Amino acid sequence: MKARYSVVIPMYNEEQVISHTHQRLKQVMDNTGEPYELVFVNDGSRDRTAAIIQDIADNDPNVKLIDFSRNFGHQIAITAGMDYAEGDAVVVIDADLQDPPEVILEMIAKWKQGYEVVYAKRLKRHGETLFKKTTAKVFYRLLSSMTSVDIPTDTGDFRLIDSKVADVMRDLKEKNRYVRGLVSWVGFRQASVEYVREERFAGETKYPLKKMIRFALDGITSFSHKPLKIASYLGFALSISSFIYLFVVLMQRLFTDHTVPGWASIVGVNLLFNGIVLMILGVIGEYIGRIYDESKGRPLYIVRQTVGYRKLKAEEIE
Ligand code: UDP
Ligand code: MG
Repeated sequence: MKARYSVVIPMYNEEQVISHTHQRLKQVMDNTGEPYELVFVNDGSRDRTAAIIQDIADNDPNVKLIDFSRNFGHQIAITAGMDYAEGDAVVVIDADLQDPPEVILEMIAKWKQGYEVVYAKRLKRHGETLFKKTTAKVFYRLLSSMTSVDIPTDTGDFRLIDSKVADVMRDLKEKNRYVRGLVSWVGFRQASVEYVREERFAGETKYPLKKMIRFALDGITSFSHKPLKIASYLGFALSISSFIYLFVVLMQRLFTDHTVPGWASIVGVNLLFNGIVLMILGVIGEYIGRIYDESKGRPLYIVRQTVGYRKLKAEEIE
């Protein structure tokens, strides 16, 4: 029977949480009384994640697995899950139970009222470091000040989308994906439910600082040209002020006895300006690098194997 709901769960080295996550999700989804599928995406885990899911799938016909050939990243894993999901509504949820599965029922209720995207807004975050909470807070405010797309603040990828929205998402092929931004960008009737983000059930975060920075840059560069504009404004402001300054120096030289001594000021100004120029080059580089990624035309992800999907017949593939 075709699933009415698809739950997509990205997994990277989550062997400690899978069984528990599966049980909680199963309980919640059984409560809906309608057919559903749990689409686990194994994002190139180095532990037993894939093997454990296979075992679970042997005993639970609702469980499916998409197994990546290597680690492609959280956002790509979500994308693959959405690509494969067959349900009329698709829910994306983290594997570590930081997003309480029970909230899915509230999302479904909103969806039944006719909303096509229901995202979950975090009221509070438990068990996360002050550093993570602060950086996240600053980042979401910064991003929304920079973009014209209305991306809700304090909202992760925990959300429900209608299959219509999933269809549109499948056509967005960009590589440096900021999925929550894309879902806002596509529009449709959107609503939110609120929840308290729990502590990770077990294991540790798979988002070290390096990944967080990359993720933040993807978010900003995908939805804003502001950094480039700021670079040119800065260049413009600096040129005007140096022109005025040079004019003043020239007048001093011509009409007063005051001569400017010392090379320290020259070196200082030089360093400052070179620093600014390099920074701006870096900003431009972030954009060019992403253009380069897009132009290569490689697939978003590579699947080693799937479990729970029958092989499509030739005439079905098109
Ligand atoms: N994840 C993934 N690929 C990655 C990193 C993370 O699929 O390269 C998954 C991870 O297994 C989890 C979700 O993305 O289900 C969110 O990651 P995590 O909980 O570590 O992030 P945090 O909640 O600390 O921001
Ligand atoms: Mg987490």
